[in-house]
Amino acid sequence: MYNIIADLHTHTLASTHAYSTVQEMVNSAREKGLAALAVTDHARAMPGSPGPWFFTSLREIPLLYRGVLLLAGMETNVLDLNGTLDINDDELNKLDWVVASIHNLGLEGLKNPTVEKCTQLWLNIAHDPGVNVIGHSGSPEFKYDYETVIPEFGRCHKLVEINSHSFDVRAANIPNCREIALCCKKHGVPILVSSDAHFETGIKDHASALRMLEEIDFPEELIVNADLNRLIDYLCAHTRVLRNRKNAEEILRSLRNA
Ligand SMILES: [Zn+2]
Ligand SMILES: [Zn+2]
Repeated sequence: MYNIIADLHTHTLASTHAYSTVQEMVNSAREKGLAALAVTDHARAMPGSPGPWFFTSLREIPLLYRGVLLLAGMETNVLDLNGTLDINDDELNKLDWVVASIHNLGLEGLKNPTVEKCTQLWLNIAHDPGVNVIGHSGSPEFKYDYETVIPEFGRCHKLVEINSHSFDVRAANIPNCREIALCCKKHGVPILVSSDAHFETGIKDHASALRMLEEIDFPEELIVNADLNRLIDYLCAHTRVLRNRKNAEEILRSLRNA
C-alpha cells in the first residue's frame, strides 16, 4: 500500500552501539531501491557518541553518494523538560537533517515528567527552527497531550516520526504510536516512517510501522518519505540542504527527473 523511498533515521558504527559503516549503509539502501538515506548518529549525551568534530565534518561525504541522496544528520537528545537539545549552532549550520528524541539516559533534567511538562517540552521543540523530525515520541513515561502538540508540529513543519524499531524494542510505546498516527491523520500532519537501523540489514525495515498505518488507513499523501518529489519538496522548503550544500539544486533536480 505504501512505497517507502527513503530511510531518514539510521545509525552507523560511529554511534558505537551500531555496527555498519556509512558505505555499507549506502550500499544496502541502494540495493533495496531507496533514493535517500540519512545517517543520524547520536549526539553527545548518549554514552559512546561520536567526538566533537564528527557532525561538523560530516559534509565531507558527498550529498549524492553511489546514486543515493545521503543527508548528513544527527539524532539530538532532549536534555530537560524545557526541550533543551545537545546540538550546538556550528553543528546545526552544517547538518542537513536533525531528529530530536528523548532517550532513557537518567538525565537529571528529565526527572519527574508529567503530561503537562512534556506537552510544554514538545511545544518548545516544535518552535525550534533547527529540528526536522520528532523522533519516537510514544513513550508512556513522557506522554504529552497529542491533541495540543501534534497540530503545532504540523504548523511548524516538524515531521512526526513513526519509528518501526519501536515496535521491536519499545513495546510499551506501541499503543501510543497508533494514537499519535491517528492524531496526525485527524489533523493532516505529515509523518516520517523510519527504521532507526543500527545495522545495514535493518535499512528499509519498516514493516511493523507500515502494518499499523495500513490498519488505520493512514493517508499515503501524509507520509513524506513515500514519494520522492514530496520528500524533495520538503527538503527544499524546510531544511538547510539547498543553502549548505554545493550542487544541491542540481542533484535534487536530477533525482526528481530520474
Ligand atoms: Zn532514538
Ligand atoms: Zn535512533
